[in-house]
Amino acid sequence: MKPADNVYLSIRNLWKAFGDFLALKDISLDINDGELVCFLGPSGCGKTTLLRAIAGLDLQTRGTVIQDGKDVSNLPPSMRDFGIVFQSYALFPNLTIEKNIAFGLENTNRSKPEINARVAELLELVGLPEQGSKYPAQLSGGQQQRIALARAIATSPGLLLLDEPLSALDAKVRVYLRHEIKDLQRKLGVTTVMVTHDQEEALALADRIVVMDQGTIEQVGTPTQIYREPASLFVADFIGEMNQITAAAASPDSVSIGGRTLTSRSHSFVKGAGVIAAIRPEDIIPHGKDTPADAANTLTVRMGDMEFLGAFWRCRLQHEIFGEHELIADFSINAVRRLDLAEGRDISIELPASRLMVFTPAEA
Ligand code: ATP
Repeated sequence: MKPADNVYLSIRNLWKAFGDFLALKDISLDINDGELVCFLGPSGCGKTTLLRAIAGLDLQTRGTVIQDGKDVSNLPPSMRDFGIVFQSYALFPNLTIEKNIAFGLENTNRSKPEINARVAELLELVGLPEQGSKYPAQLSGGQQQRIALARAIATSPGLLLLDEPLSALDAKVRVYLRHEIKDLQRKLGVTTVMVTHDQEEALALADRIVVMDQGTIEQVGTPTQIYREPASLFVADFIGEMNQITAAAASPDSVSIGGRTLTSRSHSFVKGAGVIAAIRPEDIIPHGKDTPADAANTLTVRMGDMEFLGAFWRCRLQHEIFGEHELIADFSINAVRRLDLAEGRDISIELPASRLMVFTPAEA
C-alpha cells in the first residue's frame, strides 16, 4: 500500500443532512494516490451521498473535501477534476459512440484530429475499437458501460468515481467487467472510488474497502483485514457468512457457551458480560468420529443437513449448547470423503481459538 503522505483525496468531518435526517455523520477518510477504494454497505447507508459530495453533485452540510492538495469543498462539479460512471449508462442515445466519448473533449482546446485520435485510443483501451460509429442502443449493456468508462476517463481526470457501475448488468458480464475495470484502473493509475453494495465485488476489486452503516464508517481496511479482522459484529455479519453464538465472556481469552468454556481470540470484555462469539463456516475444522487427544475447543456435534455447493459441502451442525441454533460449517469435498461424514452422524469438530471472534451483541 502507498505511504500515508501520498494522500490524494482527504475528507474531513463531513456531514450531510436532508432536512432532519442525517445521511452522513462526521465522515473523515483519506484516499491515497492511485488507490481503488470501494464504499460498501447496505442500502441507505450513505455511500452514494458520500460519492456525490466528493463530486460536488450534492454539497455537504458541513466539512471539507481536499483533492490533490486543493480545497474543493465549495466548488461546483464543473470545476472539479473527476470522471464519473453511473449505474444507468447515461450515454446520449442520439449520438454515436465516438461522439459520446468525444463529448467531454469538445470543451478542451484539442484540435479535431487530436480528439479523433484520443477517441480511437479510448475505444481500443476499452476493447471496442470497431464500434465507434454505432449508437448506444446497438450495444449490449456491458459494452455501453465500457463506453461510459471511456467517456469518464477521456480527459484523463485525477479521480474516477463509479456509482454502482456494474449492478445493472447480468452476473457473468459483471464479473468479466470488474476485471476490466481493475486492469484499466491499474494501467491508468487513476485514483478511483467505487460505490457498491456487492461484497464480493468489493473484495475482488478494492485496495481498501470502506464499510459504512447509517451514515458512519464502520471500518476501513484491505479486503483481507475486513474479512479476517472485522472490527464489529456489523462488519463481520455484512461480509461473508458468519456464525453468531450467544455467549458470555469468561476470561480475557475465553468465552462460555451454554456452560462450555472455549478459548477465543483475546478480548476486553469483563467476565460475565453478554457477548457474541463468531466464527466463519470455513474456519470450523472437522475431525470425524474421533475426538483428538488434545481436545481443546473440540465438540461432538450431530451432522444435520448437508448441501453440496460444488466447491464444498455446507453442513448444519447441532449441539445442545447452541440450542435451536445450528452451526454452519463449510467442509471440503476431500474432508467429507476422508472422514466419511454423513447426515445424522455424530462427529467431532474444532473451533480454533484464533478464529473464534468475540463481539458486542447487536443492539436490539
Ligand atoms: P443505495 O445502495 O440504496 O443506493 P446508499 O448507501 O447509496 O444506498 P444514499 O443514496 O447515500 O444511500 O442515501 C442515504 C440516505 O439518505 C438514505 O436514507 C436516503 O433515503 C437519504 N437520501 C438520499 N438522498 C436524499 C434526498 N435527496 N432527500 C432526502 N433524503 C435523501
